[in-house]
Amino acid sequence: MRVDTSIDREARGVLERCGALREGHFVLSSGKHSDRYCQCARALEDPKDAALLAGLMKRLIGGAVEADVVLAPALGGIVWGYALAGEIGARSVFAERADGAAFTLRRGFALREGERVLLAEDVITTGGSVMQLVPLVERAGAAVVGFATIVDRSKGVFDPGREVFALAQVEFDMFEADGCPMCAAGGTAEQPGSSRLDGARRKS
Ligand code: ZN
Repeated sequence: MRVDTSIDREARGVLERCGALREGHFVLSSGKHSDRYCQCARALEDPKDAALLAGLMKRLIGGAVEADVVLAPALGGIVWGYALAGEIGARSVFAERADGAAFTLRRGFALREGERVLLAEDVITTGGSVMQLVPLVERAGAAVVGFATIVDRSKGVFDPGREVFALAQVEFDMFEADGCPMCAAGGTAEQPGSSRLDGARRKS
């Protein structure tokens, strides 16, 4: 995994300023409690910040890979993929899945044989989503040249056998709700983001 100390510091600064990366006591969508919270969408809210992050990624990539297309998984990767594609002069397409099925290209998006594809993701934890894009690229006769993520939460473990570029590496201390030391110390966990709303909607 390619990271750079000064780029990591700059990216972290943008994420913190935008409220995309916070420290405190949170309930994550998994139900676990954590001392950090990351919502990259907040850092992409202002196109100038998105461009700033894309510029940092261009610097991190250097000349290591060249891409004709940036492909991102919906929804989290779309805005990031678009910003990055604009910065490196590539096309931007995204894949989506209907009702939990495999990722597909819709809306007339297509990859051409021989194209070099950079996969973009906002946060890589296990890399599960973005890895599902690899067969899509290969079936089209195109080639995955690398992965570009804003935040790596895998502790550098994500290793798909291709170049991985991560702007910031962020580690979370996570606890089961009933074993959370912050709760034990009398703290109340904040539930940020839309996970609870999504949950409510799914049940209805
Ligand atoms: Zn807690």
